[in-house]
Amino acid sequence: MGVLNNSLPDIGPVRAVDSAIGWGRKSSIWPMTFGIACCAIEMMAVYAATFDLDRFGAGVPRATPRQSDLIIVPGTVNAKMAVRVKRLYDQMSEPRYVIAMGACVCGGGPYVKWGYNTVKGVHKIIPVDIFVPGCPPRPEALMDGILKLREKVGRNQVFARQAQTAADMDGRYAAAK
Ligand code: SF4
Repeated sequence: MGVLNNSLPDIGPVRAVDSAIGWGRKSSIWPMTFGIACCAIEMMAVYAATFDLDRFGAGVPRATPRQSDLIIVPGTVNAKMAVRVKRLYDQMSEPRYVIAMGACVCGGGPYVKWGYNTVKGVHKIIPVDIFVPGCPPRPEALMDGILKLREKVGRNQVFARQAQTAADMDGRYAAAK
């Protein structure tokens, strides 16, 4: 399928195939095992039994970006960490998705004014699909974000999406450096 990415026109049959792929993908999202700061504690609660992500096929975090199609960025991204976040994102295969979890990641949060080394929004480094604000967001809020992502994945046209992210992101990363 790799050679067909970004190569087919946006017509009915192609869209139908994309829908079928999207349905399969939204039912088996594999998040990456990844956490940065305090928001990660709330994220871990979502993986636990009370919230039961397995209901949505997303309860098995992968230990490598190469097997993950979702990175939840939970916590403060500083300038040093930004390089690692971008590298992890680059190692994920398309289509890949990003949830920005917490005020820090959405726009700098408590560090927005004086945090000289804090990236004021992870969207300056990688493309964000869903923003979940809060300091920290409650597990229910992250669950809501994951459910919204599922809707988005189900609607996705896999082949069209890659063209938007690849070019876009190199520009964003260069601008944030
Ligand atoms: S948003 Fe609040 S809870 Fe989350 S990483 Fe930032 S300071 Fe910590």
